[in-house]
Amino acid sequence: DVDITLKVIVVGNGQVGKTSMITRFAKGIFTNEYKKTIGVDFLEKRTFLKDVGEEVTYLLWDTAGQEEYDAITRAYYKGAGACILAFSTTDRDSFDAIESWYKKVHDECGNLVMVLVQNKVDLLDEAVVEAKEVETIAKKLRLKLYRTCVKDDLNVSEVFTHLGNEFVKN
Ligand code: GDP
Repeated sequence: DVDITLKVIVVGNGQVGKTSMITRFAKGIFTNEYKKTIGVDFLEKRTFLKDVGEEVTYLLWDTAGQEEYDAITRAYYKGAGACILAFSTTDRDSFDAIESWYKKVHDECGNLVMVLVQNKVDLLDEAVVEAKEVETIAKKLRLKLYRTCVKDDLNVSEVFTHLGNEFVKN
């Protein structure tokens, strides 16, 4: 069998939990201190996907807080096979930016497997986005929606498993 390699990019405003999500999935840890960089270009994680019966190597790319600089965009997006569009439950701007992130990824990568992720659902008490609004934009952009809590490891592996399965099937 040929090795399947999948580059995943995680896109969204700063502070929504992108680095934490990658770290959680790749290493199974959550670190609460804010880190501007994970110190490497990407993390690697091998997983057997039982639904499709394939071993997949995920290459997990982090923008390392440089999401606003167009110069890194090209290298970051190049060769991506899947994308997580992420926003935070407690950050209205991050939700309002989803469509423009979607456009940017679409312009750079064309069609690739994409999902919408609402992170920090442990903070629903402080939510600044209504469930209905989230469902509406997911429908409009035709994206599968996941609600995650990286902090408590809720739904994180499900997101990556879904991306892997869809990538292998396509
Ligand atoms: P990035 O800038 O998008 O890469 O975001 P980070 O991964 O650096 O996370 C920003 C902050 O949000 C950090 O303080 C994280 O610990 C925190 N964070 C990430 N995920 C969660 C979550 O699910 N719940 C809560 N309460 N905090 C989170």
